[in-house]
Amino acid sequence: MLYQSTRGQAPKVTADAALKAGAAPDGGLYLPEALPGLNLAALEATTGLGDLGCIMLAPFFADSPLDGQAPAICADAFNFPAPLVQPDPDQHDLQVLELFHGPTGAFKDFGARFLFRCFSALGQGAETPITVLVATSGDTGGAVGCAAEGLPGTRAVILFPKSRISAFQEHQLCCWEPPVEALRVEGDFDTCQALVKAAFADKALSAEHALTSANSISIGRLLPQMVYWARAALDVYARTGKKPGLVIPTGNLGNALAALMARELGLPIGPVVLATNANATLADWHASGQYEARPSIATIANAMDVGAPSNFERLAGLAEARIDGVERVTDEAIRARMKQVFETTGYVACPHTATALEAHARIPADQKAERPWVLGATAHPAKFADVVEPVIGRTVDLPPALADVLERPVRVRDIPGSSDALARALESGVPA
Ligand SMILES: *Cc1c(COP(=O)(O)O)cnc(C)c1O
Repeated sequence: MLYQSTRGQAPKVTADAALKAGAAPDGGLYLPEALPGLNLAALEATTGLGDLGCIMLAPFFADSPLDGQAPAICADAFNFPAPLVQPDPDQHDLQVLELFHGPTGAFKDFGARFLFRCFSALGQGAETPITVLVATSGDTGGAVGCAAEGLPGTRAVILFPKSRISAFQEHQLCCWEPPVEALRVEGDFDTCQALVKAAFADKALSAEHALTSANSISIGRLLPQMVYWARAALDVYARTGKKPGLVIPTGNLGNALAALMARELGLPIGPVVLATNANATLADWHASGQYEARPSIATIANAMDVGAPSNFERLAGLAEARIDGVERVTDEAIRARMKQVFETTGYVACPHTATALEAHARIPADQKAERPWVLGATAHPAKFADVVEPVIGRTVDLPPALADVLERPVRVRDIPGSSDALARALESGVPA
């Protein structure tokens, strides 16, 4: 299996190189040169996510040092469930795929756990452990730290801005055991990002520490995300004989791309509808055919505050990239939908999930009745309690995994916002 750049100006590479590089050297994003053929009957015979992931993803490692390692990586990466739940007893054809039962309460746990297990497998065979460097203003860093904890052959260095993130988020970045290192940087998020960029650009530093990234454009995050869409589609299809439509809350199009790839692989997936917050780039593109990136605007579904979706250029690289609708949902409509769903069914949705509930409600009745629909639920509502609680008039309890995080001790180093300081911190960091 070879991966090619969406811009076509970079050499084709195997999975290990695509994972370590993140973006392709021509600035494009890696996609498989051709998707493998799949034996649907073999997939249908699996239960759970780990088994399915192993069969589905093994071909993506072919011809690389990861060949043969899919079973171990998937068994360890998919160690929490993604249940389908029916929020409204009266709507049998509406199910929510809850992707937030991982240790940090958001679907990014899937991508982060899988990617780190790949890095760990690659790093154990290498002279230098792989160091994953991330700048974070919140969520991604928590998932990355948690995913890396205790893994040999790799380390995670997480930079975040001092005094610019919530106390809970800071705790969630600083509570992980080695090989995770949290660095609290004097400066803002842009300072952190600039430091990371400069470190990658410094060839000597980059080589010395085998630096790599774990951001949303990594193909290593898309691959595992295909698996839960496939699981849901197979289960619904087995039960109803119909291909479910998917409604996917979207920022950078990661989950959406994964679902489209799963459909192109041959999984029984019907129409794909995207739900965005007030950021209009995707809705305008779908309506007009013209793509125009915009500055992002702040919304209450803030993990989707994206004006230039980083995965957009991957759409053009897929044969089956058809998107059947894009619904833009304002903050007002998010709040109204959260309230309506809670009051009629008792189901509590996070603001991102509420965009999908609203987009589903807008689908014309005849199309809704044609098939079952599966909506992505991307975060636990307790992570967005400040938004959710005033709307539903009730407190939302932290799930046990998130509550456990607050019990953990914190370990963090303060550094000035300079490249020298980061280089010194990398030198003296915990050995993997
Ligand atoms: C990252 C994130 C999203 C957006 O996901 P993409 O795959 O980038 O579109 C949606 N909801 C939550 C809670 C997130 O953390």
